[in-house]
Amino acid sequence: MSGSLIVVRTIADLRTRVAEWRRAGDRIGLVPTMGALHDGHLTLVHAAREVCQRVIVTLFVNPRQFGPNEDFARYPRSEADDVAKLEGRADLLFAPGVDEMYPPGFATGVSVAGVTDGLCGAGRPGHFDGVATVVTKLLLQAQPDVALFGEKDYQQLCTIRRFVRDLDIPVAIQGVPTVREVDGLALSSRNRYLSAAERAAAPALYRILGECAARLVAGDPAGQTLAAGGVALQAAGFGPIDYLELRSGDDLRILDALVEGGPPARLLVAARLGKTRLIDNLAVIAAA
Ligand code: AMP
Repeated sequence: MSGSLIVVRTIADLRTRVAEWRRAGDRIGLVPTMGALHDGHLTLVHAAREVCQRVIVTLFVNPRQFGPNEDFARYPRSEADDVAKLEGRADLLFAPGVDEMYPPGFATGVSVAGVTDGLCGAGRPGHFDGVATVVTKLLLQAQPDVALFGEKDYQQLCTIRRFVRDLDIPVAIQGVPTVREVDGLALSSRNRYLSAAERAAAPALYRILGECAARLVAGDPAGQTLAAGGVALQAAGFGPIDYLELRSGDDLRILDALVEGGPPARLLVAARLGKTRLIDNLAVIAAA
């Protein structure tokens, strides 16, 4: 990487930089984020650096992907810390204001069917339309060669893969495995909402996913296994379970059982710990 991090706030400035890099023949990677950066985000940046000469990180807390009763107003915002973390790791931070992304009169949305049905799509109406719209805009603004997204938000990754294919957006989408704390909890900007007691209970989410996966691989029926998983989550201190489901790993079709030799399946969960909603997921591969 040459020089220090450039921070830009307008699409015009972003495009000027990207055009310079394109003229130099550089390959460009894009890492969209909502900031409050942690090691999960930095792993995406590192993965981008491995395949690109130039790495752009975007920081935009996108109001369109939050529901009216969600945490948009209190979502952590720490741009100075984020800039410090990106120094020496990324080339450019694109941090537009809401008016730059959605100027007065903005009237267009991207909506994806199928993969957005159920799971987080059920509990967060409009969320994936908001994600699809903003990611489409970011991809068209930066026109990267590669854009990287975490498997942590697995339904989001599937949604992005779908509309990129459907809209013929010329970018490669690279998924990056979930980065976890040593106790298994997936890193998330929302983990800071957890009290000490909730933080201590939180790793059960991943542990129970792993237990369910092992039972499925051993041949237990999905219905019984997932019901037992829900009971275990509640015993571990989780409140309402939004979902715990077995889906196909590519198009997120609901699966009743693991299919031997079929595409890898995915177990996906969302559950509340106090006021905080945590999500996680795990690949489940049938024994040969
Ligand atoms: P966010 O800022 O939460 O919107 O996340 C920005 C990007 O980082 C998304 O592609 C997320 O899937 C990804 N991400 C968030 N947490 C993790 C994690 N623990 N491991 C890998 N990627 C993550």
